[in-house]
Amino acid sequence: MSDARIIDGKAIAAQVRAEVGGHVANLKRDHGFVPGLAVVLVGEDPASKVYVKNKALQTVEVGMKSVEHKLPAETSEAALLELVGALNRDATIHGILVQMPLPKHIDSLKVIEAIDPMKDVDGFHAVNVGRLSIGERCLVPCTPTGSLILAKTVMPSLKGLDAVVIGRSNIVGKPMAQLLIKEDCTVTIAHSRTRDLEAVCRRADLLVAAVGRPEFVKGSWIKPGAIVIDVGINRITGADGKGKLVGDVDFAEAVKVAGSITPVPGGVGPMTIACLLKNTLEAAQMQHGLEVKSFGQA
Ligand code: NAD
Repeated sequence: MSDARIIDGKAIAAQVRAEVGGHVANLKRDHGFVPGLAVVLVGEDPASKVYVKNKALQTVEVGMKSVEHKLPAETSEAALLELVGALNRDATIHGILVQMPLPKHIDSLKVIEAIDPMKDVDGFHAVNVGRLSIGERCLVPCTPTGSLILAKTVMPSLKGLDAVVIGRSNIVGKPMAQLLIKEDCTVTIAHSRTRDLEAVCRRADLLVAAVGRPEFVKGSWIKPGAIVIDVGINRITGADGKGKLVGDVDFAEAVKVAGSITPVPGGVGPMTIACLLKNTLEAAQMQHGLEVKSFGQA
């Protein structure tokens, strides 16, 4: 059997951004405004700083307005809630993203619930979570949206597939499962208490791994020909002593069994920011009472 097709998340993310950019230019020309995204970072977490910088750069690249609020780690919950309130009222801001994790003295859920659901471009607000679960239009978390777009580049209709999602987090696993139900898949959510995980995975025509454990899913767990979407981003020390990023799937083994597979890096990772920009565009269209044009196959 030949090796799996590698799903090029970098190239597909570039296509999504180009498409977003086209819509932004049309909004500017036809309606005289550009979507605005505000990103709020509290504290000095190095990984978060890199994410925020990349988000701002790509926001500007697609022609949107980018606003960054960098607050010290000791910022009070009240001050953060006040800023969120001000951004909710700011008509030039259509998307608000508060970078997680927040310092321990701040209640993350309280902050998420303070964001106007129409501006909740992370899709974490209970209103958006609820609307997703009843299959209504809403802002959907970015990483599962990106994962779905990647799967659909391989198979435009996922109807009837046995899909297994490993991981039940609110950020990835649960919304991923909801999206796949909407695509008419038969969905299993596996997690840390699942019995005989290997056998569960072996049933999957579509396997999504969102576990947070390096190279956890072995080649022998994969059904021959399956679509494998690896959401994991894990930093490990390679044989050469240098740091490297690996996914939740043992890529070297899986590539020999799967029909198609996302690499790490260069798979789901680049899709997350592209989908954040897609969400910001859609949020802006909704707030201006314009038709939200679906694109990017999700
Ligand atoms: P999480 O820690 O919140 O959830 C992990 C899930 O894995 C849990 O639901 C848990 O039940 C399950 N799990 C843990 N051990 C298991 C085991 N032994 N067997 C079966 N299931 C097990 O993590 P998360 O936020 O959902 O992220 C998952 C991975 O995805 C991480 O590697 C993270 O870095 C990555 N991630 C990537 C992006 C991206 O942009 N590509 C975005 C978010 C998260």
